Parts: sequence; structure tokens; C-alpha cells
Amino acid sequence: MKAAAFVYARATSVGDALALLAEHGDQAKVLSGGQSLMPAMNLRLIAPQVIVDIGGIAELRGITVTGDTLRIGALTRHVDLQRSPVIALYAPLLAEAVAHVAHPAIRNRGTLGGSLAHADPASELAACMLALGATLVVQSRGGERHIAAADFFQGIFQTSLSADELLVAVELAVPRKGSVYFFHEFARRHGDYAIAGLAAQAIVEGSVFSGLRLAFFAVGDRPVLARAANRLLNATVTPALISQASAVLAEELDPQDDQQATSAMRRHLAKVLLGRCVAALLFRPELAGGLA
Ligand SMILES: Cc1cc2nc3c(=O)[nH]c(=O)nc-3n(C[C@H](O)[C@H](O)[C@H](O)COP(=O)(O)OP(=O)(O)OC[C@H]3O[C@@H](n4cnc5c(N)ncnc54)[C@H](O)[C@@H]3O)c2cc1C
Repeated sequence: MKAAAFVYARATSVGDALALLAEHGDQAKVLSGGQSLMPAMNLRLIAPQVIVDIGGIAELRGITVTGDTLRIGALTRHVDLQRSPVIALYAPLLAEAVAHVAHPAIRNRGTLGGSLAHADPASELAACMLALGATLVVQSRGGERHIAAADFFQGIFQTSLSADELLVAVELAVPRKGSVYFFHEFARRHGDYAIAGLAAQAIVEGSVFSGLRLAFFAVGDRPVLARAANRLLNATVTPALISQASAVLAEELDPQDDQQATSAMRRHLAKVLLGRCVAALLFRPELAGGLA
């Protein structure tokens, strides 16, 4: 199938893109790498009347560190994240996670901004934003908004972006001393969408967590920043404590059945991920099997 007819507009600057979005409202769709938008249009799942191509806007690209803030432009491609020495140094979780996003051909065109705006609940990068406590920088002609990642994702393919807004960048705090990370996903094949996954960032002091952010993905209608992590803070972690955290996790996840896995299987995998994550972050392999 081919996309329904649409008007194509190539924006030459952020101001130009915002003017086009203000003019066309929810009749328009932003085009970044096109790796999710074009298949959806070709399958006629959506039929926007106007496409606003932002792909040539240089000011939306790039990775910079200013003081304690790492800023990544929305048009930064998956492959740029994978290859960047700055990301490897300041956000290694992202570098590891992005290798699991699709395949090279898609990573060569797909962008961070497109992935976040698309808001697939199985998105690795969306979960990383929660784990890293990212702020999403959004612009419209009315000005700029800074949205915490935890408030940005609203449901399956739903975000808090308005039709006249453009995601322009994400900002992350550079990691503190003692920062460690974990990433793992279960997928049928490398590059497939995950059946269940976990992106985590922690601060380990001595042998306890003084900070822990667990972002599960593909186990609900959006990435989940698990409250279960609170059970594991500032305490010696034991199998019994992991069991308590798992019980909290079970209450906060709402996985769906689909052709890849049942809800029960996803719940089980999330618990397995929790145990493996804690064991890896604390260098205590005996906790991986986890539950008392
Ligand atoms: C076969 C296949 C496998 C895939 N596997 C995975 C996977 O395992 N994990 C994963 O996370 N993704 C996967 N993807 C999706 C891929 O990562 C896309 O690249 C990504 O979701 C969208 O990025 P894009 O730049 O191509 O965005 P586009 O397709 O251009 O846009 C996606 C959506 O975001 C909107 N948008 C784009 N940029 C902005 C912006 N700056 N501001 C506001 N709105 C914007 C668009 O209007 C559209 O609604 C897969 C895709 C394919 C085709």
C-alpha cells in the first residue's frame, strides 16, 4: 500500500517548522527519520494532510556538554548515539540500549526525537530517558517547555506534546560519582521489539543503593519508572528484600497479551530482570536468581 496524498513542506529552521505546525495544527505531522512515520502512512494507519520535514535543520543535531548538563539534539540519529565518545563517557546506558533498537538500516535514519515522540511502549530509548531522569525540551511559537520524561509518555503512542510543538532536545545530568547502569531486554531475535526490558541507573555507595531508577519497558502502555526501587534503597539487599520489591513491581505493571507473549510471561520476565539488575549493579551474582 502507499500513503494517502499529502502536502510536503521542508522546514529550513526551527522557527520555520514551528510556523508550519502552528498553521496546520493536527492536520500536520513532523517527519524526522521517517522510520515509524512512513510505515504508518504507507499502511494507512494515519493520513496526515501535511508533512513537515525537519530533517535538514542543523540546529536540531548534535551532542554537547555544558557544565553538568548533557544536551542531545532531537535529530541525533540512533547511529550517532552508538558512535559518540561523549555518549559513551556521559551516558553509557544510552550507548548500550541503542544497539538493541532495530537494525543498522533503521538506526542510520531513525532519530532520538522521533523515537521519543513516537512513544512506543517497547521503546528502549524512552525507558532510558526515565532511568536517566531526562528533561525533554519542547518548543512552540508560544515559547519553550521543559517536561520531565516521567510526564512526557502518556500511553501507547501518546505523549504530552501538542500538535504545534516540536521536541528539540533532551537534557541529562552528567553522572555522579558511583553511578552505574544496567540494560537488558528479552526479544525473540536481536533487533526485534522487546518482549520485556529494563533500563536502570543507580548510585552505589559502599554496598548499598543510595539512588536507583528502574525503567521497565514493553510491560505496560508506557515505560514504567518502578516504585519498587524504593524498597531497595539504603539497605543491605537480601533475597527477601528483592521479593518485597518484586511484590511492589507486580502491582505497578500492567502488561498486555499479544502475539509475542502473554501478560503472565511479561510479569515473570520483569521479575527476572529485577533480580539480574540488582545482582549486576551490586556485583553480587548470588542475587540474580533472586526471590526468597
Ligand atoms: C523494522 C523496524 C524495527 C524497529 N525496531 C525498533 C525497536 O526495536 N525499538 C525501537 O525503539 N524502535 C524501533 N523501531 C522504530 C525506530 O526506532 C524509529 O526510528 C523511531 O521510532 C522513530 O524515529 P524517526 O526519526 O524515524 O521518526 P519518524 O518516523 O520521522 O517520526 C515518528 C513520530 O514522531 C513524530 N516526530 C518525529 N520527530 C519529532 C520531533 N522532533 N518533535 C515532535 N514530533 C516528532 C512524527 O510526527 C511521528 O509521529 C523500528 C522500526 C522499524 C521500521
